[in-house]
Amino acid sequence: MRGMMMNVPLLISSILKHAVENHGDTEIVSRATEGGIHRYTYFDLDQRSKKLANALQRMGLKSGDRVGTLAWNGYRHMELYYGVSCSGFICHTINPRLFHDQIAYIVNHADDSVIFVDLTFVPILEAIAPKIENVRAIVVLTDEANMPRSAILPNLLCYEDLIAPESEAFDWPELDENTASGLCYTSGTTSDPKGVLYSHRSSVLHALTSCLPEIFGFTVCDVITPVVPMFHVNAWGIPFSALIVGAKLVMPGANLDGASLYSLFESEGVTIAGGVPTVWMALLDWVDANAQSLSSLQRIAVGGSAPPLDMINRFQSRNILVRHAWGMTETSPIGLVSAKLPKHQNLSSEKQALNLTKQGRPIYGVEIRVDGADGKPIPRDGKAMGNLLVRGPWIASDYFNSRQNSTHEDNGWFDTNDVVTVDADNIVQIVDRTKDLIKSGGEWISSIELENIAQAHPSIKEAAAVAKLDQRWGERPVLVVQLQPDALFTHDDMVSLFSGKVGKWSIPDEVIIVDELPHNATGKLLKSAIRELVTIRLAGKADAADDD
Ligand code: ADP
Repeated sequence: MRGMMMNVPLLISSILKHAVENHGDTEIVSRATEGGIHRYTYFDLDQRSKKLANALQRMGLKSGDRVGTLAWNGYRHMELYYGVSCSGFICHTINPRLFHDQIAYIVNHADDSVIFVDLTFVPILEAIAPKIENVRAIVVLTDEANMPRSAILPNLLCYEDLIAPESEAFDWPELDENTASGLCYTSGTTSDPKGVLYSHRSSVLHALTSCLPEIFGFTVCDVITPVVPMFHVNAWGIPFSALIVGAKLVMPGANLDGASLYSLFESEGVTIAGGVPTVWMALLDWVDANAQSLSSLQRIAVGGSAPPLDMINRFQSRNILVRHAWGMTETSPIGLVSAKLPKHQNLSSEKQALNLTKQGRPIYGVEIRVDGADGKPIPRDGKAMGNLLVRGPWIASDYFNSRQNSTHEDNGWFDTNDVVTVDADNIVQIVDRTKDLIKSGGEWISSIELENIAQAHPSIKEAAAVAKLDQRWGERPVLVVQLQPDALFTHDDMVSLFSGKVGKWSIPDEVIIVDELPHNATGKLLKSAIRELVTIRLAGKADAADDD
């Protein structure tokens, strides 16, 4: 027997409709790319998204066409999220931090019809202009007064001029909820970028679930800042979830350094913000160096890579709760959330902080399986290591226009390529990405574990652990560090730092000090470049020894 409930599709337009009808005067505050602070309301967002929808129709786009965006977090990017997706087109957020060749590849692979670009990123399109194929128009997200003159791209359109003559009336189409709404390419850390195609249904379900108290716990009284860019997995769905609860949104634009975030958080009363650990370390360093307090911030959400224990402690000592989540572009992104169960309430604060470094338990909607090398589930003892597989309504089943299937040959599980342990409470801890594990004399060494320990040392600003080839052991760990200003860190310091914290075989053979560690487009350590750097440095050292 079928249930007798209304079959109303889960569409992104329903979020905007709800927001404007119930929270029309809620503010969206953005640091504008042209400079200064821009303020308007959900009501304005709705009106301008509809003007944009009319403009896109006038440009002749057909349902399912891809519309590229190269933009910071700001109000015009919000208009693209809603105006594009709600009218049946696909909002393709392009990561401007990728290499130019990768961006050209992505634009062509996605077959973008139009690209909307922030002033900052026009030079990227100029650089790749000869390589991009089917883009019929490039629209600069600014007004007439700030329009750039480009000899290479003489036909640039102006966003404000494009939408100005359009009507504010537009009936969002009643789409099938499985219609594609957004497209985001993986940053290509492990291979060529691959397109993940989100649907209206997956985006709405993911955004709804992320509001749960143990995840973001958003309320209408929150003031939310997604520091995580809108070109990185839909800013973790915050542009949707904030509107579901009706909370004020504060968009940081291009200014993601500690000082700029601090002043924005304080002036707008931000209560919760989401971002990767690098961003939070920069904020904490700035606040500490300038003896400031974060007066409105109550919680931070962190993900994308493992937060160091030191970072968690620094936030908690300021009474700011840390919410740690694990996810991927392919998982929309939230899949696991660090858990505090009733039985953990009486643990010491040190143990609780340590628990927070674990990636945690599956949230409702995400099922997990952890397989050993034999393809069978590993024991849930917190020690055995296996490959993490996931499935659920917001997990990718395939990649866009690719023969490469994202799911496990077995039956619809997505293979994350993360190596993890899992305990009896289903708490997952990432040991490493498959390719970053260091295998020394048959023992697996987690680069993440070494990095977490190193990161807590007062002399170390950032640390990476990678493998070097070794004739006897196959691979041996090497620690590469950026030091705090004027700090020292010797080989002996390293040995005493790790002794007693990891097995003897896990203590790195060498420490290499660098001015800066390379990061990928999403701010994560770029292990491939760090491995190359280690090879070059060690070869240089060997040559110098030969000369002696
Ligand atoms: P890419 O595959 O290009 O790095 P993603 O941004 O989708 O792109 O990265 C997903 C990966 O990031 C995960 O598979 C995992 O290895 C890592 N990751 C994400 N969140 C966390 C976290 N909280 N702790 C540790 N690693 C994480």
